[in-house]
Amino acid sequence: MTKRDYYEILGVNRDASKEELKKAYRKLAMQYHPDRNPDNKEAEEKFKEAAEAYEILNDDDKRARYDRFGHDGVRGSGFGSQGFSDINDIFTHFSDIFGGGSIFDDFFGGSSQRGSARKRRTGIPGSDLRISIKLTLEEIATGISKKIKIKKHVKCDACSGNGSEGGKSTKACPVCKGTGEVKTVSRSVFGQFVNITACNNCDGEGVVVDSPCRKCSGEGRIVDEVTVKIDAPAGVSDGNYMTMRGEGNAGKRGGDPGDLIVVFQEIPHEYFVREGDDILYDLFISYPDAVFGTEVDVPTLNGKAKLKIDGGTPSGKLLRMRDKGIKHLHHSGHGDQIVRVNIEIPKKVNSKEKELLRELAEQPNIKKSAYADDKNFFKRPGL
Ligand SMILES: [Zn+2]
Ligand SMILES: [Zn+2]
Repeated sequence: MTKRDYYEILGVNRDASKEELKKAYRKLAMQYHPDRNPDNKEAEEKFKEAAEAYEILNDDDKRARYDRFGHDGVRGSGFGSQGFSDINDIFTHFSDIFGGGSIFDDFFGGSSQRGSARKRRTGIPGSDLRISIKLTLEEIATGISKKIKIKKHVKCDACSGNGSEGGKSTKACPVCKGTGEVKTVSRSVFGQFVNITACNNCDGEGVVVDSPCRKCSGEGRIVDEVTVKIDAPAGVSDGNYMTMRGEGNAGKRGGDPGDLIVVFQEIPHEYFVREGDDILYDLFISYPDAVFGTEVDVPTLNGKAKLKIDGGTPSGKLLRMRDKGIKHLHHSGHGDQIVRVNIEIPKKVNSKEKELLRELAEQPNIKKSAYADDKNFFKRPGL
């Protein structure tokens, strides 16, 4: 399934401000709201599509990646993969925009159940994990799948992640009585304030473990080495990164896992210099070959190729081998391989060569073309 452009979905320019994004999204959300479009599958899809576009573009980081790499750059971080299980998730997710349901209450006559029900979280979320992988230019040119081993927190198998010995019971936190919140009342000259904060004893979970699991000491997770498959798309550059949602450290006691952030590093190539999606190769040929023309072998990203050099090729000439470069990240097609012709000047010559070169230097065509005088300095090409 091809995805529509997020900016197009929201109907905004690529440089739209956050305020504009919010406005555009709110408008669409109203239009396609399920309450207004009962049993309308198409409206529901549009509603979800707009939510996804807004989720990505409203996040500076994700938006930057999307701008650079398109949908590939945010694959795995939108709703498409993670999947909002139902529409209510969207309301919970964007409660700031929907103002805890109030906007919709105003418009739709107050079904404030939606999104306002506060979910008590389970466990403590895991942290993000950042790794670098080194890629050769050949691997970047085509894209590659790599399996790598990483150490990270994974769910404890002995207690299924809940932290209790034998995976058995947890009990309501005695401090907050299972609510996960503690209320403190303070008085000041302005009156009485009620403060609600997350309970310290249970980190806001509302439950504590009865007898901690021996394997993970009640954390619900352990450090282990796991193999992760990384699909590096073709055309990435040094420093580009990709986020794999939920592949980071496991959370404590069933908390949501963090993300795995994969940073790509490019290994310098022995033959080629990368320029965008083109690759540059410096070819050195002898002076006679440049004068007479020749055929040479040049390395390519997948082996080698024959290249014809015409007679009279000047030093510095760029020869383009179409589509022999790197596959574009955003669109179809490839960059080119560019071969720069250089004339090799020998550092050492023997007496016979010296003699021949001196004789050559006095020949009329050589002398005339090699030097300019004050009436005839070299002009810039094309002028
Ligand atoms: Zn355990
Ligand atoms: Zn508690």
